[in-house]
Amino acid sequence: MRFEISKVLDAIEGRVCTDPSLARAVLDLAEVVRYTDFDGGRPASMLRLGIVIDALSRQLEEDSVPVYPVVHRALLSDADLTSNERMVVRRWADDGLVEVLPNPVERMLELADLLGLPVLSRMRFDGMLGRYPWLSSQPGRLLAPVNSPNGPTLVAQAGGKAVWTSPGPSPTGAKLLSRLWRCPEPGCVLFGDGGGGGGGSFADLARSDREPGGQPPPTLRGGAPSCPRHDRRLTDAGPRPDAEVLSVRVGGQVRRRFVVSADRPVMVGRAPEESGGVVLGQWLSEEARRWISRNHVRFELRGGDLVAFDVSTNGSGVRPGGSMDEDDRIALKQQANRVLRGGDIVELYPGVQIGRSSNWTSGGVINPTSVMAEAPTMAMRVIERP
Ligand SMILES: [Zn+2]
Repeated sequence: MRFEISKVLDAIEGRVCTDPSLARAVLDLAEVVRYTDFDGGRPASMLRLGIVIDALSRQLEEDSVPVYPVVHRALLSDADLTSNERMVVRRWADDGLVEVLPNPVERMLELADLLGLPVLSRMRFDGMLGRYPWLSSQPGRLLAPVNSPNGPTLVAQAGGKAVWTSPGPSPTGAKLLSRLWRCPEPGCVLFGDGGGGGGGSFADLARSDREPGGQPPPTLRGGAPSCPRHDRRLTDAGPRPDAEVLSVRVGGQVRRRFVVSADRPVMVGRAPEESGGVVLGQWLSEEARRWISRNHVRFELRGGDLVAFDVSTNGSGVRPGGSMDEDDRIALKQQANRVLRGGDIVELYPGVQIGRSSNWTSGGVINPTSVMAEAPTMAMRVIERP
């Protein structure tokens, strides 16, 4: 049983991050772990985070959807969690996958505001409406994770459509995210020398080589960019490298997103060996696996241009503006490269596509991969033996 829980927590770990380019919603971990109505189990359980992540994934119809958790620092020693769960939260905190704070609720709303993300919460924020008018004017943006006859789901707190399509960061958020920041606190994991607090959102993006571009947005204290964890003023460490968020779409379904930044090209293929490479193998048919090379296309940002370099054996194609008309398809031959304009899509094999995430409003995935895959039998046992 302990083994199964560890596997579930590992799966969940792949879906938490503080990378502003990848996170799709913010939530308060200390709140979510106490949704006892999800499973009737212990007063607090980390597995409920997985239930909420799955609900968001289903809502967005997309696989590998990460959330940005803020964590009250008391949760690190909360006796309602198991010692294993507390250890996991501490590790996430040490790795910068979550923000540990004295006042997470305020920060959660600030993050949602700066990054243009929805908030997953059952809390009421009536006292915050003056500061964050969107809490009432954009009802689809405050989503409560609740039980429904079809299982856990997200509903708009104010009623209405529970959908929020983010236009991206707010003007203030964009300004903060255009720079890199440094915290004077030695070893600060969010704003330290090693760069940002993100990039750990997928197991194959090793945390050790996290890129600075994944840094979270600073908090504003009296208008000054500050470290949310250490409450100290940050210094400006120069411009943040350009970044583009791309999606892998296989058979019309968005399987994952990844970030290409000016300081970090990304290799995509059947099974790239380099760290940070995007592995497609698990989503491919037999034919596609035979066609697509281990290393197939490298994506780079050069002087603001997104460039695709074919490094494969069989070559690729580009669909200009996302056109699905075969007459429009341009061959991207072996060793050739091409600058990708807004809606252009690189096709490694028919139906295996990479493009800017903004091209696809819906992920098109009817049954997203659950982080709880190892959990079904265990959830039952939790109820029987709390
Ligand atoms: Zn700090």
